Amino acid sequence: MNHVVLTGDRPTGPLHLGHYFGSLANRVELQHRHRMYVLVADYQVITDRDLPGEIQRNITELLLDYLAIGLDPGKVTIFQHSAVPELNQLLLPFLSLVSMAELQRNPTVKDEILHSSQSAVSGLMFTYPVHQAADILFCKGTLVPVGRDQLPHVEVTRLVARRFNERYGMVFPIPEAMMGAQPSLSGLDGGKMSKSRGNAIPLKATEDETAALIRRAVTDSDRHITFDEELRPGVAGLLTLAGLCLDRPPRELAEEIGDGGAARLKSVTTDAVNDFLRPIRKRRADLDEGAVRSVLREGNAVARERAALTLEEVRRAMGF
Ligand code: ATP
Ligand code: MG
Repeated sequence: MNHVVLTGDRPTGPLHLGHYFGSLANRVELQHRHRMYVLVADYQVITDRDLPGEIQRNITELLLDYLAIGLDPGKVTIFQHSAVPELNQLLLPFLSLVSMAELQRNPTVKDEILHSSQSAVSGLMFTYPVHQAADILFCKGTLVPVGRDQLPHVEVTRLVARRFNERYGMVFPIPEAMMGAQPSLSGLDGGKMSKSRGNAIPLKATEDETAALIRRAVTDSDRHITFDEELRPGVAGLLTLAGLCLDRPPRELAEEIGDGGAARLKSVTTDAVNDFLRPIRKRRADLDEGAVRSVLREGNAVARERAALTLEEVRRAMGF
């Protein structure tokens, strides 16, 4: 089956290993067989903070990360929210299709409110999942490679598509989420690895920075290393990370490390991560910032054209 794939990230900081094993690895794979759009979700930055911050710098960093992991701009359309105003026009009718109660019970929104740095919880915090429906449906997306936290949002999109079709006639496909090898990778403090929570290993970190980050990871005092996600989340998190990078089961690594303790575990993990990321980091260092910006300009034009077609179809279906 041929899919239209849509996925994206907020330009809130450099991409990390959670992104890689949650979604990026799937993207690199899928780009060869399907039509793919990748969104730089710049408007979404202000869902959980008052100001967009270093937005231009972060967009450039995100583009460098995309190209470094092997997304091919010849195959993939990379574009940004703020350059495609048609997305906001789709948002409006889509908002009429969901209830306040549905928006308020979204578990990911609840979790993000807890970690938010906003002075007050904004309306955008509750409505951005509907904006995401516009992101996915503007290109009639059918497959959405995401981490676990995004599943409730993909559900909102499915709801919007179904209700639109019921009220106005068949316009949208009902998209499916696709989770990666590790739908929710833990960060160095045991919580979900996240750009804004200071617990991530960025893809672009140097080998020394990586070693320093892993040295500070939370573990425990039991010298005998075992894999137990419930009782030893910190140790299990490092074993999982090393296992993903080495393509080996974490339990097997635990047995090998045995009585080596946290120090040995950390050194194995550091080597695994650095070996895994070396080619990606090398490609990143060779990229030109001006060239990656023009990738975005071209992608924006393609996405706008596609969005205008869908918006026209939506208006016609609604009788506007
Ligand atoms: P922020 O803290 O700014 O929200 P983030 O690290 O949560 O950043 P997003 O841009 O919100 O990253 O998410 C981009 C994509 O990466 C989403 O599909 C999300 O599900 C996935 N993702 C993010 N963190 C992880 C993780 N720790 N494990 C697996 N997937 C993840
Ligand atoms: Mg997030």
